[in-house]
Parts: sequence; structure tokens; C-alpha cells
Amino acid sequence: MKRNTLGNTGIEVSELSYGTLIFAEMQANLTLKEGGRSVKKALDSGINFFDTGRTYGTEGHLREGLRGVGDKAIISTKTHASSPDLAQEDFEASLKELDREYIDIYHLHLVHSTQDLADRRGVLDLFLDLKERGLIRAIGASVHKVEGARAVVAERDIDVLFPVLNSQGLGIIDGSIDDMIEVCRRADAREMGIYAMKPLAGGHLRESPKEPFQYLRNLGFVDSICVGMKSPAEVEMNVSIFEGREVSEETLSQIETASRTLTIYDRCVGCGACVEACAQGALHLDISQTDESKGKKGQSIVDMGKCILCGYCAAACPEFVIRII
Ligand code: SF4
Ligand code: SF4
Repeated sequence: MKRNTLGNTGIEVSELSYGTLIFAEMQANLTLKEGGRSVKKALDSGINFFDTGRTYGTEGHLREGLRGVGDKAIISTKTHASSPDLAQEDFEASLKELDREYIDIYHLHLVHSTQDLADRRGVLDLFLDLKERGLIRAIGASVHKVEGARAVVAERDIDVLFPVLNSQGLGIIDGSIDDMIEVCRRADAREMGIYAMKPLAGGHLRESPKEPFQYLRNLGFVDSICVGMKSPAEVEMNVSIFEGREVSEETLSQIETASRTLTIYDRCVGCGACVEACAQGALHLDISQTDESKGKKGQSIVDMGKCILCGYCAAACPEFVIRII
């Protein structure tokens, strides 16, 4: 597996990195053991870079799969915290859950704009302090918006950019793939590390993954491509593609071919929290399904053409009626 240095951080990462959101309760809902098995398979296959987030609930899966490997594995995790105190709590919880002494790349989770970044200045200052003390190796920020990416690239204290990047631009909220590429080129010129989120556009490009991966490689600035993999067979398939090998028939026979989809059960009460949480505009409330006798104000409906299976709606639903399976 090819390795690249993540910008000027000095951190060497495999060209294929592991996105663990797919293990989450609202997605594949894997046990620690099941997720850990795929993580272990990835490590044994040459993947050394694993991405998680405090809100994913998958740090434990990484702990399980990476037990005893020490600094052979590079881990990135994230906090949404808006204040330094909350960020410190998240940081300590992540260290504990991951069973690590430090975090390789610690992200501001989803920066949307210059104002959003300014609002989290105290959190960024905390990150700088943690970095100074050797508890963080590099500071990152994840972005779904071009505007957020621009703000991050303008901030000299941030070392790593984690943007939505795929050939269709699916999942980029406020612009095109060309807009995002233009910002990434500026990040690259600044020697920031860049790794790509949603390379298969949440499954929309899953049918033929070689081309979307090659598209990102050809950009020349992507240090790693972060792919969600549910099973050891999916790890084997993606590693084979990245290493230019044919995917064996045996591996293909073990891959689940059914497309993942988002299901909203009819126990939805129509509160609208998911609609607000979906930055892709993939959800709306059908108020014709209002049933006042049951306290139901409508039914949330998804447009799968717009959905990138990010799972944010599921996390926002107080009734736990959204599943990505
Ligand atoms: S998973 Fe939910 S929040 Fe994410 S794009 Fe799909 S509908 Fe929107
Ligand atoms: S957040 Fe849950 S209960 Fe509220 S509208 Fe969405 S699916 Fe329905």
C-alpha cells in the first residue's frame, strides 16, 4: 500500500484510509468485535490511517481492532464542541475510548464558515495548547462546504483539511467539485495535508469504484482517500483496487451487493429535527401524513437522489426512527 506524507505534518499515511462512520449504531450497527475485525484486517493489509469522530460512537471499534499496535496506526478523531471546556471533555473521552496517550490528528468537526471558525477560536486555542504538549500531532478540520474550506485554508493554525471530494461533487453543500478543488489547491500550496471524504459519494459511485478513486488520485494533492468499509471482504476489495490487483472472485462473492439506503419508520412524529440537520436538502416533511390523535405532525421523507448517507439526520432524531442499512 502506497504511503504519502500528510502535508507538512510529517505523518505518513496509507493512500487508502479507513472511515469508521459506517460501523455506527444508526448505520451498520456493528459490534465492537465485528468492527474491530475489519480494522485489524485493514491494518494487516497495509492501511495505517483510521478516521473516527466523537459523535460517531466508533472509537471503541478502533480500540478493539488496534489493540497492542501502538503508534503503527494513525488515528484522526473530531469534536463538535463549541467551547474549550466541552472540547477538553471530548478530547479526554476520546483518549480513553481509543486507549491512546495522544491523538494523531484532532479535527474541528464540520467547519461551515469564517464566522463558525471564529466562534470556535477558543477550541482551536485549546488544540494548539494540546499540540504544544505533544497530545495532538496535527490539527485538522472537516468540511462539507466550500465556504468552510476557504475559512480553514486561511487559518494558519490548521494543518490538515478533510473535505468532501468526489467526481460528482455530491455532498458539497454550497458549490461544485471545481470550487472545492480550487480551495484544495490553495491548501496544497500551503502544504496542508488533505484527505478525501465521501470519495464514493455515500454509495452513489459504489458500482464501479476504480474510476472515482483514480479521479481523486489524478488530482495530485490528495494524500489519502477515506473509504467506509463494513467487512473484511470490503477491505480486501478496496486494498486490491488501490494496489492495482484484480479483485478475486472469492472476495466479490462475499461483498454485499445491495445498495445501502436510508429508512425512516412511520413512528416518525414529524418534529422536523432531521430536516434541519440535513444540509443536503434531502429531507422534507409530508404534512399530509399528520395524525393529531397520535401527536404526529407529519412524516419525514427522503430523496435518495440527494442523500449521501452521512447519518446526521439519524443522530438528530429524538425518536430513533432513521436507519441507514
Ligand atoms: S443521511 Fe440524512 S442528513 Fe445525510 S444526506 Fe441523507 S438525509 Fe441528509
Ligand atoms: S427527527 Fe425523527 S421524528 Fe423528527 S421528523 Fe425526523 S424522522 Fe421524524
